[in-house]
Amino acid sequence: MWPTVPCVRRSPFVSVASVLAVPFLLVACQEDPEAQGAVPEGGDGAEYGLVIHGGAGTITPENMTPEREAEYHEALEEALAEGYRTLEEGGSALDAVSAAVVVMEDSPLFNAGRGAVFTAEGTNELDAAIMDGESLNAGAVGGVTGIRNPVELARIVMDESPHVFMVGEGAETFGRQYAVEEVDEEYFFTEERWEALQRALEAEEETSVAPTVLEDGKTLGTVGAAALDRNGNLAAATSTGGMTAKRFGRIGDVPVIGAGTYANNETCAISTTGHGEFFIRNVVAYDICARMGYTGADVEEAADAVIHGVLVDQDASGGAIAIDGGGNIVLTMNTPGMYRGHRLAGEDPVTAIYQDD
Ligand code: ASP
Repeated sequence: MWPTVPCVRRSPFVSVASVLAVPFLLVACQEDPEAQGAVPEGGDGAEYGLVIHGGAGTITPENMTPEREAEYHEALEEALAEGYRTLEEGGSALDAVSAAVVVMEDSPLFNAGRGAVFTAEGTNELDAAIMDGESLNAGAVGGVTGIRNPVELARIVMDESPHVFMVGEGAETFGRQYAVEEVDEEYFFTEERWEALQRALEAEEETSVAPTVLEDGKTLGTVGAAALDRNGNLAAATSTGGMTAKRFGRIGDVPVIGAGTYANNETCAISTTGHGEFFIRNVVAYDICARMGYTGADVEEAADAVIHGVLVDQDASGGAIAIDGGGNIVLTMNTPGMYRGHRLAGEDPVTAIYQDD
């Protein structure tokens, strides 16, 4: 827990720590002189609400059709509707993020659950995490197969075990004890992802280079949600198939608590998407929360400093969505687009695709 510092933009408290932190805050802000795509919208004290993403990357109108765009907006709206309904009815932020992520895991459009990308061996290995900002409890799974909704398995790990992170067969066996829904491998077959694998393998053969570097479309479509409920609790969840043609048991940032997923009532709830290795090395989700806690930066400043500062300096692409305890939100990316949306108490849902939307 953060000891004394203010955690939301309109906090009436000005602590000694935050005054001492001003120079650091200035540095954090200077890292981001030309932040683009930051969308601090609504959030003017919203009592509850949620933000979601469906992956960031080279998403441009040229790579899209109007029909495809409409499909994405519809899927995002459906996910927002499920999460929002949970919050409106007084449900927890944890249940809301899980409900929103399940909708996107069930859609073939996103690289999570049903639409997961293929490994080099032609399998689908799924990563997911969920975190409760009130208790700091978290659950995560890595490299699981045959699980329809990995976010639900992550929740089972959080709720039913003394552990945080389980991988592979062990996680699957554990989930079976709690009747997690299993599906055949055909469930995850989508023509588009299969073709992406063939292209990746061909490119690899031609260049003899293993796919260690993020290329357009290789990871596109990771999903995530962050929510604030009526009780003032925050939660975050993220789910992904990882990277096309991944191998050797590669697990990305998504289930690494603090890298792709983090929530703390004292700061914010956050889910990220992008080049996982960089998000792990920079502990991106936690860094954003920590900047808020240590420097008093608001959620937008903290997210921008990391996504447009730290990551851009390392040529790492991606984005993040976050909501703080005061209902302030940010949806930001250093890529041309990020499937995303938000809905705050009493407001209409908003969905967007391109950076300038
Ligand atoms: N971060 C995910 C991973 O590296 C991919 C993504 O977000 O697109 O596994």
